[in-house]
Amino acid sequence: MKDILAPLGARAFHARQIMAWFYQRGVSDFSRMTDLSKGLRTALGKNFRADELLLMTERRSRDGSRKILLKTADRQLIESVLIPSRERLTACLSTQLGCKLNCGFCATGAMGLVRNLTAGEIADQLFHLQSMAGWQNRITNIVFMGMGEPMLNYDATLSAARLINSHLGFNIGARHITISTSGIVPGILRLMEEPEQFKLAISLSATTDAVRNKIMPVNKKYPLKELLTAAREFSNRKGKLVFFEYILLAGINDGLDDADRLAKLLKNIPGKVNLIPYNPGEKNGLFKPSPPQAQHAFFERLLQQGVAVTVRMSKGQDISAACGQLRAAAISKQT
Ligand code: SAH
Ligand code: SF4
Repeated sequence: MKDILAPLGARAFHARQIMAWFYQRGVSDFSRMTDLSKGLRTALGKNFRADELLLMTERRSRDGSRKILLKTADRQLIESVLIPSRERLTACLSTQLGCKLNCGFCATGAMGLVRNLTAGEIADQLFHLQSMAGWQNRITNIVFMGMGEPMLNYDATLSAARLINSHLGFNIGARHITISTSGIVPGILRLMEEPEQFKLAISLSATTDAVRNKIMPVNKKYPLKELLTAAREFSNRKGKLVFFEYILLAGINDGLDDADRLAKLLKNIPGKVNLIPYNPGEKNGLFKPSPPQAQHAFFERLLQQGVAVTVRMSKGQDISAACGQLRAAAISKQT
């Protein structure tokens, strides 16, 4: 910020003032930054735009989660979700427009990759979500679990995560920022070397290479053994738990034999499993959600074997908050 402002004759303390207007008070309009001189405000307004994204729609689900659709300068649509729970307010951010990894259960995957989001576009989603929540009601947690694969847009994701983490930015602790990957091993190894304590989530969703190859083609490039070795290394190096996301799909990965294999695979990796009920979206015929009894049995089986496991109650199901679905709905309405 200092470097950007230097040509306008602004000083370091001006940069701090502007950061505070943005990230503490939620003001992005330079003309309202009343502790700056009139001349500087005019110069800023002439040279810069602080808002990247335009708010298009906002939807509220019965369970309280709220989803927004944002438009980029090149008229693409990004979605982001705000998920309140008892003691947290979590923002779910997108890192790419679409995704090339084509997981069979994912609406974003079906779109293919349009382009990477910039760091500004990633961070501006949070600005919009915070504005919607109200700036006195601060967002406490970030998950990069919206559209896209963060590890395939590593630099922009990390630079947004750092802005979110910075005490001059959104000031959210690194331990409250989770980067989720479908299993891009080089990304995991790179994140491991970063100084921050960002949390790592791995979308596992299968216990054999045969099944994982089918539902998550990224597994052909980075098979289970390599992926879990990287997870173990991450956990050792950082002294942190790794979070494993596991979508329960009826008849595909929800059997007790899967639960047993999962327990075995994760045996030496300090981590936690988060079971996710599959969200079928609007017209996805390939998979069915695992029935409640099967979900329960799977959960119990893991517990019995000493696996730390939670079930994510699918917040926002009625506004289709899983990956890419609101955007798909909005596009089909436009055309
Ligand atoms: N690309 C990254 C992050 C975005 S996907 C990744 O795959 O981890 C975020 C999460 O949404 C992943 O855990 C993914 O498995 C999950 N997901 C995708 N489609 C889903 C669906 N239809 N129902 C439930 N969860 C879904
Ligand atoms: Fe991409 Fe993640 Fe969706 Fe797979 S689940 S297609 S990696 S966004």
